[in-house]
Amino acid sequence: MQSTDVIIIGAGMAGASAAYFLAPHRRVLLLEREAQPGYHATGRSAAMYSETYGNATVRAITTASKPFYFDPPQGFADHPLVTPRGSLMVGAAQDQDRMHALWQELHALVPNVQWWTQGDILQRVPVMRPEMAHCGVFEPDAMDMDVHAIHQGFLRGAKAAGAQLVCRAGVQHIQRELAGGWRVDTAAGSFFSPIVVNAAGAWCDEVAQLAGVAPVGMVPKRRTAFTTEAPAGCDIGAWPLVIDAQESFYFKPDAGVLLMSPANEDAVSPQDVQPEELDVAIAVDRIETATTLQIRQVRRKWAGLRSFVADKSPVVGFAVDAPGFFWLAGQGGYGIQTAPAMGQLTAALVRGLPVPDAMAALGVRAEDLSAHRLQG
Ligand SMILES: Cc1cc2nc3c(=O)[nH]c(=O)nc-3n(C[C@H](O)[C@H](O)[C@H](O)COP(=O)(O)OP(=O)(O)OC[C@H]3O[C@@H](n4cnc5c(N)ncnc54)[C@H](O)[C@@H]3O)c2cc1C
Repeated sequence: MQSTDVIIIGAGMAGASAAYFLAPHRRVLLLEREAQPGYHATGRSAAMYSETYGNATVRAITTASKPFYFDPPQGFADHPLVTPRGSLMVGAAQDQDRMHALWQELHALVPNVQWWTQGDILQRVPVMRPEMAHCGVFEPDAMDMDVHAIHQGFLRGAKAAGAQLVCRAGVQHIQRELAGGWRVDTAAGSFFSPIVVNAAGAWCDEVAQLAGVAPVGMVPKRRTAFTTEAPAGCDIGAWPLVIDAQESFYFKPDAGVLLMSPANEDAVSPQDVQPEELDVAIAVDRIETATTLQIRQVRRKWAGLRSFVADKSPVVGFAVDAPGFFWLAGQGGYGIQTAPAMGQLTAALVRGLPVPDAMAALGVRAEDLSAHRLQG
């Protein structure tokens, strides 16, 4: 049986980033059930980086990830990981007071967040119907992320530092050995390690159950997305991501086409989730109501799972009920934009170190992320 220092279960963005930051310090084995890492949530995102998205903890971890994304280590990727997009929340007249309060809150966090009038919105996104674009909150530094390059960069860097990735290695049994440490049985053989990192995304409570560890109450939520042609004669390249004040739809340019979503959050069991026709129809109806876009054809559609615990913060830290069992889960709709800081945090905590100073300065606290807060 192969023995190592740390086994990471799941090679999506979470497991890959943890492996990247841990591998220089520990022998790391990354176990992935699928033939290709990135098949699940990581390969199905909308690829946006936004410092105003999510709760205060998520925002702090997103900001802590900024230096890595804006100035990655040399050789991490051969082109920029993030490119300017901007993010615009639009509201009707009745949304104005709530939107203005939101702008004040976000502006205190990210000073260049702007209040936009109807004129500003229509100039930048001329397809908006004026009554649905009475006012807006614009985040200029929201970015498109190259998710594939980021994920591959983490995996490549982890391997270069000695980590081993085993695909088609679905974990079937996890047993705490009497001598201490974990025996992990997979479809690709058995492995032993004193520390197991649970980065299994939507399946993290199932993996915990295999190890006899109390669940954290993870709820995977389906989100559907699709692409459609850009309107004829319209240069969409400079459009930001547009989301409505109720968060009932969004759309953004994506490599020459428009990516759209009803921004749904439908609770489902962990699975290889597929898009529902109804989700697409709902998005088309909402977007056609808010804009002059006419969506004739869906080019490609997909769905992915955004997995949340009750307070919508991630879960990072050792389980209190099982020595050496480490949670790295609950990334929700923010797992790409938070990955560098989550990986650094995991590497620190697994090694018995405190929250890194740069993150602590932004208000990231181990107790806000620990599994303990959910397990009572
Ligand atoms: C439509 C959509 C839009 C999104 N937009 C954004 C966005 O704009 N910005 C952003 O930051 N985030 C976004 N997200 C969220 C982001 O995609 C996720 O938070 C992130 O990918 C989660 O990464 P993960 O590694 O935890 O999960 P996953 O990528 O799902 O990886 C978990 C891995 O664990 C493996 N696994 C599970 N069980 C086992 C087992 N028993 N043995 C071995 N391996 C196992 C799985 O095969 C899987 O590969 C979006 C998500 C969706 C669905």
